[in-house]
Amino acid sequence: MTHPDQHPETIAITVGRPPVGSGAPLNPPIALNATFHAGGSVGYGRYGNETWEALESAIAAFESGDTLVFSSGMAAISAVFSLLPIGSVVTASHQGYSGVMTLLNSLQTNGRIEVRFVDVANTEEVLEVLPGTALFWLESPTNPSLDVADLPTLISAAKNMGCGVAVDNTFATPLIQQPLLMGADIVMHSVTKYFSGHSDVLMGSLSTNDSALFTRLEDARKIGGAIPGPFEAWLALRGLRTFPLRFERAQANAMELAKRLSTHPKVAKVHYPGLATDTHHGRAKSFMKGFGAVLSFTLHSGLAQADKVCESSTLITYATSLGGIESLWERRRRWPNESFSVPESLIRLSVGCENIEDLWSDIEQALRNA
Ligand SMILES: *Cc1c(COP(=O)(O)O)cnc(C)c1O
Repeated sequence: MTHPDQHPETIAITVGRPPVGSGAPLNPPIALNATFHAGGSVGYGRYGNETWEALESAIAAFESGDTLVFSSGMAAISAVFSLLPIGSVVTASHQGYSGVMTLLNSLQTNGRIEVRFVDVANTEEVLEVLPGTALFWLESPTNPSLDVADLPTLISAAKNMGCGVAVDNTFATPLIQQPLLMGADIVMHSVTKYFSGHSDVLMGSLSTNDSALFTRLEDARKIGGAIPGPFEAWLALRGLRTFPLRFERAQANAMELAKRLSTHPKVAKVHYPGLATDTHHGRAKSFMKGFGAVLSFTLHSGLAQADKVCESSTLITYATSLGGIESLWERRRRWPNESFSVPESLIRLSVGCENIEDLWSDIEQALRNA
């Protein structure tokens, strides 16, 4: 058991361990079982698994809510949307994870739900649109423009109006903000990203303190079947042991790169809420404990040059995704489903744990080549 006064880096090391005893192992087993003797707590391999439970208890300690893991972040998100009655109104950010926007659009096209897309950084606009909303799906900082929503205000306003609130906390992580403690009903993670941290696992999680909602989500996983593999759960827990260390380093690197990029002559604008000059810096500082490790920037030149920058790196990997130990970048609008509100030349950089000077010299030479 973890001590409530312990700090995140300690919790990451102590949670999800098997009971202590002479000869007992330190790590949970990779429990490869579909079948269980009758009469126990787990009836079948799709209903529960010892390795998932170890990982779930670790994420629960970070997010302060009972947790379920799923086969991917999108599987977790799909389980949430699957609970909505036909015709429900969902309010969501018009800029966010592109898979979520694609899923919401297709649910709307199929006549399942009505979607209202909003600029979540614009509190007044959101408050106008919220009435009648069954589920407010929030992501902040937003992907990929790093806009910051006023989470405490929006969550409490939505709850006062009787809306369900779910927050995708993948970018921020619980080290920066804990939406359940602000009153949200559900926190979702792409465990694929910072929790796992090594670009080798796909997984998702949902955390909640509403026990009735937890049961409905657990039933959705049991029957929907979007269960993670035990080996993947074990790998994710192994990754999570170093999550606070990795995140701290990546975040410090991101802050320094944001500063250096903002004075580079070829860079038009840097989006990073940690910069004192950023539009959302004051808001971010008021309730976030850090600014994360993803930043984005635009160039004075256009999309062809931005592509060339991404292709010119020798250290930073030209790839999508984020939250791994290795730095990655890409021009976001290369994806046809990326939001129209994202500038064509915008490059998103997921900052990893490499040495800061090595990262900067790679960025400098890539910008020189463009
Ligand atoms: C990656 C990501 C997802 C989707 O998660 P998968 O594990 O890829 O299915 C959802 N939201 C955000 C913010 C993400 O970065």
